[in-house]
Amino acid sequence: MYVDSHIHLQDYKTQDIKNVVTNAAQNGVTHFINPSARPKDWDKVAELALLYPQLVPAFGVHPWHIDEVPADWEQRLENMLNKYPTAFVGECGIDRLKNPDTVAQIKILRFHAELAQKYHRPLIIHSVKADSEMASLFDALPKRTVFHSFTGSAEWGKMIQNRGFFIGLNFSILRKKNAAEILRSLNLRQILLETDGPYQNIERGSETLPQNLPDLAQKIAVLLQMPTAELEELIVENQNVFLGERK
Ligand SMILES: [Zn+2]
Repeated sequence: MYVDSHIHLQDYKTQDIKNVVTNAAQNGVTHFINPSARPKDWDKVAELALLYPQLVPAFGVHPWHIDEVPADWEQRLENMLNKYPTAFVGECGIDRLKNPDTVAQIKILRFHAELAQKYHRPLIIHSVKADSEMASLFDALPKRTVFHSFTGSAEWGKMIQNRGFFIGLNFSILRKKNAAEILRSLNLRQILLETDGPYQNIERGSETLPQNLPDLAQKIAVLLQMPTAELEELIVENQNVFLGERK
């Protein structure tokens, strides 16, 4: 029973969402954490959460979209968290590959972290080429924070996990030359699996589906040289810790 810990169901273009959810369940992927990327997604994600009780919505502003926010976005984000008491915060973060100017990104990330602390909600972080900036913000982050789509170094993974944070793994880690080395250096008690669907396409041009999550688990287990069932057991425990009462 897997949770796809990071999926954007609102973004599928070639798939019917109902089929995506049904096919996932048939493959043992029964729950989802569904982040939004910008205010114009928020209502769509909230609507999906009402349609699918197995979906945890998350509200936030992705670092790629910080220029698209309306002036009152902060109040609107807080309103969403009040209105949806089980919602998580995110995704948010810093992406220096996309935008080397981190001033606004950090300011926006800090606001998300404050709200997550204030309302005791987990926080979903997107962090690319921003290790030192993120490390300097560790104190501001809630304990239940996940660094999603992790493709960083073994050292960076250790730094994140030593602070008690989680690491979200998807198919992109498998593209790293030293994937096995990175995976073996991680604390397996603090990892989650995700597809980041419809993104992180496994095959060029196709949308990634949550039904692929068991395949991801199997590929990671091979690199970890452990039985898939053993990894699955760990992941299920981790999911329960991260989702807490929610699941
Ligand atoms: Zn995402």
